[in-house]
Amino acid sequence: MIKKVDHIGIAVKNLDEAIKFYTDILGLECHGTEVVEEQKVKVAFLPTGDSELELLESTSPDGPIAKFIENKGEGIQHIALGVDNIDEALAECKAKGLRLIDETPRYGAGNARIAFIHPKSSKGVLIELCERL
Ligand code: ZN
Repeated sequence: MIKKVDHIGIAVKNLDEAIKFYTDILGLECHGTEVVEEQKVKVAFLPTGDSELELLESTSPDGPIAKFIENKGEGIQHIALGVDNIDEALAECKAKGLRLIDETPRYGAGNARIAFIHPKSSKGVLIELCERL
């Protein structure tokens, strides 16, 4: 059911500074930003060939990214695996007894439908299933 690594989500304190690092120093291009209010996050997209880096800055001190940085510091927050059909993928995860953070898909930055698998079910990695629309 998994096609590829769609993107890697990286929690950062300052989006502008992080974008500068990835573009000026590493030579990637930033293909825009998007605020997802529901998740209290501002996202920047930096394509890396067939997948991309997703830089995430919290828009609020009580957002999930702010909490992540408070606990663990800046760094990789989640890995997103691309699927063709997220409803089928979620049903399969449920059938296999995985603990899910999202029982039903929700909107994800970059025009996608996403759902997270709980890290307790996936060896400590926060995995996002991602269907691009
Ligand atoms: Zn993501």
